Amino acid sequence: MSSPATLPDMSHMWMPFTANRQFKEQPRLLTQAKGMYYTSHDGRRILDGTSGLWCVNAGHGREEIVQAIARQAAELDYAPSFQIGHPDSFRAASAVAEIMPAGLDRIFFTNSGSESVDTALKIALAYHRARGEGQRTRLIGRERGYHGVGFGGISVGGISPNRKAFSGALLPSVDHLPHTHDLAHNANSRGQPEWGAHLADELERLVALHDASTIAAVIVEPMAGSTGVLIPPKGYLERLRAITEKYGILLIFDEVICAYGRLGAPTAAARFSVTPDIITMAKGISNAAVPAGAVAVKRAIHDTIVDATASGIEFFHGYTYSGHPLATAAILATLDIYKREQLFKRAADLSAAFEQAAHQLEDAPHVVDVRNLGLVAGIELQPREGAPGARASEAFRHCFDKGVMVRYTGDTLAISPPLIIEEGQIAEIFDTIRQALLAIQ
Ligand code: PLP
Repeated sequence: MSSPATLPDMSHMWMPFTANRQFKEQPRLLTQAKGMYYTSHDGRRILDGTSGLWCVNAGHGREEIVQAIARQAAELDYAPSFQIGHPDSFRAASAVAEIMPAGLDRIFFTNSGSESVDTALKIALAYHRARGEGQRTRLIGRERGYHGVGFGGISVGGISPNRKAFSGALLPSVDHLPHTHDLAHNANSRGQPEWGAHLADELERLVALHDASTIAAVIVEPMAGSTGVLIPPKGYLERLRAITEKYGILLIFDEVICAYGRLGAPTAAARFSVTPDIITMAKGISNAAVPAGAVAVKRAIHDTIVDATASGIEFFHGYTYSGHPLATAAILATLDIYKREQLFKRAADLSAAFEQAAHQLEDAPHVVDVRNLGLVAGIELQPREGAPGARASEAFRHCFDKGVMVRYTGDTLAISPPLIIEEGQIAEIFDTIRQALLAIQ
């Protein structure tokens, strides 16, 4: 146990996605992290049941990553990536391409999931324009989808509180598929639900409404994480792929959470054997040690855009920090750990025990659904009358006080531990949640 830290003045920082006033009255600060554990400001050890924010897949404080970042900072702190480059960004792109499904081997670097999403949407528009179908500007997302917080991402996203304050400024040509969660049909599914593949056929309806010639791309999270863990029904992604292919619509998988082992495979595309045209990623790509993201694009899409310009810049897009030296150092060291320690396979091997432990909560107080896949579980609670989210929020705080970090969205608790977790720690997470559910009203 480390000694309690003095709390700083908290008035100046406007915290993201946080109830600022409540938080500052009762703060929870993290001061250190190693392996599966955080240390809180009051000196307590907290078991990380959420990989930070779905991102520290290889566990905290990995020495190889720390060293790689430190070396790079001393050697080359920054290099622009417009009209100039540095060797590790090319190496990191090759290493990412190696993990992606065959054919998605052109890699565009960003700094976050939100930037990856906006980049992918722009690539889709640029692609259709480059091949002479510039009228394909419509983007299709899905209800309850989370694609970050850029204007593109919230437009295709389907989480109402993230959209309503900005509703007058969302992208104009967007439509949404229905989400796939229905407790009457798929409650307490273990792995992929049997029910719901037919909901992909709603895309046929949108095509009939708008005409395929106006639609550029469909974007979905293969497993929707941030909205509260929605697992794709069996056959659903396959149908989306078949329909998009039939009409020349690009399919984008937003794998900001799924990629890098979360589902027991390198990507959700590999896990479900469905290959999209574009994959967005961030989080686990660098083990979150340095902010980083990327977009993997089918070579033919890249070539179409690049070849459409006779000479000069082919795609007017990029970030000051695309392929930042510290990020690419972290990416290379992280991917090396994943490979050496076979962490994606480890996640797959642990998933049966994880599923078993999660579903033991089916009979716990307030629980209306338990769902899981790979090393992700969602525990949905009955909302308290007139106070949606309050019950899950209380359960979260109870768990934190008892030394386990979980997450909640609405009334769903989400569990997504680092892939290095041990079976005893899996049991501890779900036991602590049970205790919390027994303790709260
Ligand atoms: N897309 C998905 C599927 C996500 O889960 C997230 C974040 O959780 C994002 C995009 C946004 O990523 P960031 O917060 O790094 O911008």
